[in-house]
Amino acid sequence: MKTIEQIHAEALAALETASDIETLKELKTAYLGRKGAITGYLKTIAQLPPKERPLAGKKANAVKKELDAVIKSVLQKIQDTLAAQTDTPDVSLPGRPVARGALHPITQVNREICAIFSKLGFDVVEGPEVETDYYNFEALNIPRNHPARDMQDTFYVSSDIVLRTHTSPTQPRVMEKQEPPVRIIAPGKVFRCDSDLTHTPMFHQVEGLLVDKKVSFGDLKGVLTTFVHQMFDEDTSLRFRPSFFPFTEPSAEVDIRCVMCRGTGCRVCSHTGWLEVLGSGMVHPAVFENVGYDPDKYTGFAFGMGVERIAMLKFGINDIRKFFENDLRFLSQF
Ligand SMILES: [Zn+2]
Repeated sequence: MKTIEQIHAEALAALETASDIETLKELKTAYLGRKGAITGYLKTIAQLPPKERPLAGKKANAVKKELDAVIKSVLQKIQDTLAAQTDTPDVSLPGRPVARGALHPITQVNREICAIFSKLGFDVVEGPEVETDYYNFEALNIPRNHPARDMQDTFYVSSDIVLRTHTSPTQPRVMEKQEPPVRIIAPGKVFRCDSDLTHTPMFHQVEGLLVDKKVSFGDLKGVLTTFVHQMFDEDTSLRFRPSFFPFTEPSAEVDIRCVMCRGTGCRVCSHTGWLEVLGSGMVHPAVFENVGYDPDKYTGFAFGMGVERIAMLKFGINDIRKFFENDLRFLSQF
């Protein structure tokens, strides 16, 4: 019988000369395998006097652990040498799988919204994310010191330049450049000083504007009803609730019948059966005057919605921050 010290010394000497993976594998089997020297030695411990057994077992296990580590480091060394020797790729190696990506849920919903309005004849227009105070507020009938500015506190680049709080500045920008009829939607990122379960400092909006002769509130209702039916389903009912926006008069919030409980009341709809999804209204005459349109000749409507809000309702998500945490376990579900 060899002693554990002998096995240890022999194994180290053999490993030192091993220069290819085949030999290394054989040595591993010879010493650590099921029928290897260490395993064999461990079996003989039972025949030792009881007092000697614990120490012998401890020693043998320490040697086993050490040899395992040495084998790993020798393997790494052999592989490194091989990699350095070959500058031509080994075509027999298995290929690296290419992970398949997908569009972000917000991008998907944004595109779906744009597709629905495109079919209704709206053009997609984009405006700048860094906006002047004039287009973000003043042109939309929100003068300095107007209380409505409080609801849209934002990030100021300077006293006259802001990160836009809504996509609405695209409206005066487009109207200044063209005569009616105007039929546009403006998707994009917007910014506000808000952060909680349902608010993030950056989020996405889609704004819509239609201006022509004889545009009525009935047209607004028709367009938004068509949108909601296509975005959710034909059975989703809507209600228009009087509201206030400085750039529309009259103004209305649009609620849809809760998509979770179908109107019976649940946590998502705060047990009201309704969910707010859109702001809308007839364009305020002051906005038309700011861009040089004759408010006696033209009327129009505007609406705006949060893309995250629509996506949360569509997919049943309860925390808006999940969209921006870049957690693949969440994102790969879409
Ligand atoms: Zn509900």
